[in-house]
Amino acid sequence: MLEQVRAAGVAGCGGAGFPTHVKLAAQGVDTLIINGAECEPLLRTDRYLMREQPAAIVMAVAAAKKQLGANRAFIALKESYTQEIAALEGAISAMSAPVELFLLKNFYPAGDEQVQVYEVTGRVVPPGGIPLDVGCVVTNTATMFATHQAMQGRPFIQKHLTITGAVQTPCVLKVPLGTSFVDCLNLAGGALHDDFIVVNGGPMMGTAMPKEQALASHASKTTSGYLVLPAHTRLWQNAQISTQHMRNRAKAACIQCTFCTQLCPRWLLGHPIEPHKIMRYCSGKQNFTELLDNPVVRAAQYCCECGVCELYACPMQLNPRRINALIKQACWQQNLRTEKGEADLQPRDYRNERRIPTQKAAIRAGVGKWYQTEPAVFLKAKPSEVCIALNSHIGAPAKPVVAAGEHVALGQRIAKTPEGKLGVDYHASIAGEIICVGESIMIRGNS
Ligand code: SF4
Ligand code: SF4
Repeated sequence: MLEQVRAAGVAGCGGAGFPTHVKLAAQGVDTLIINGAECEPLLRTDRYLMREQPAAIVMAVAAAKKQLGANRAFIALKESYTQEIAALEGAISAMSAPVELFLLKNFYPAGDEQVQVYEVTGRVVPPGGIPLDVGCVVTNTATMFATHQAMQGRPFIQKHLTITGAVQTPCVLKVPLGTSFVDCLNLAGGALHDDFIVVNGGPMMGTAMPKEQALASHASKTTSGYLVLPAHTRLWQNAQISTQHMRNRAKAACIQCTFCTQLCPRWLLGHPIEPHKIMRYCSGKQNFTELLDNPVVRAAQYCCECGVCELYACPMQLNPRRINALIKQACWQQNLRTEKGEADLQPRDYRNERRIPTQKAAIRAGVGKWYQTEPAVFLKAKPSEVCIALNSHIGAPAKPVVAAGEHVALGQRIAKTPEGKLGVDYHASIAGEIICVGESIMIRGNS
């Protein structure tokens, strides 16, 4: 199974794109958790797959459980996903699969892997640690679907994604890897506003792009959705604040109310991260390097960048998450590795009461208007050209094994992981001629 998954080039679809064959080779695992929470408001990709492909997902989960030697395998999804629960229960029962469902409340971020490990097992991953530290592996439903395809000998060349927000027809799309955002937008009937921005991913953790950048972008192995929004929304204003302005605002406007800490999901798990204190130490500072001796500041490394502090908690609309990201960058530049914190931490007593309803998170992020929008249709893209980025996963960028002018067949390998490095291979998502080769590979389809 590991060889099939490696050969297919499967990378985690739910986050940063960790190579799946490496994750499924982990040792000492007792619990496999499949994240079906799709906790970002507005995205519907994983829900679509759980409804439409339950047998494929359950089959892959059972195989992954066996591969890992885990005692139990859970698909964790929200209790409000009634259709998806029925579909998965039907598949589990039809196959007598050794897979269980774990039903989560509807809160944000229910899909954060450390939050999910606690919800499912009651274990707290140590700060700076990974789920494997407490015997767990977490992956997601879309990755399990890609794993199932790999087990049938099919390379990872298709992405399911949601396109929603201010578009004519919000929909779930199945697109060849490297399909342009423009092709996706056209399938959704176009944008409702001439002046728009696009969030790659969900509103809480996604990356906001100006229109021009979005129009030049392409779907990668980790793209799960596009959120099209009118320009000048809160998410765009937030992304536009310069780092200098952000530091100055922290000095001028942080009232030390502690709300950012009180609602931080990692703080609530018992981790020693206190964004209000980090804001106090960092306010007005030009350079964070001089602060890195302070363990309170270095605790920014435990931040998962969920966005709760800045999009939901802070009454002054400050940016603790982005400050944390800058500190992490400073630590990385100084070669300071993330220190693993204390094991066996206990969550705060009031954790359950402070979980944030997902709809409220969407409203505060300024996208409440589209919270109830259900994609009306499922469409397949047939682009005439694709541009496949070779670095959309964690690890070393893949090295091209084709040259411009060459003709490739559908599914043919076009880039390979460098020898001895962590990474994934890439394959042609359409048949055609290689137009150019660099950090990406462009293929023009056979007409
Ligand atoms: S919530 Fe905002 S104002 Fe309050 S302590 Fe945190 S950063 Fe400062
Ligand atoms: S983004 Fe804010 S709320 Fe989320 S983990 Fe980091 S500090 Fe905590």
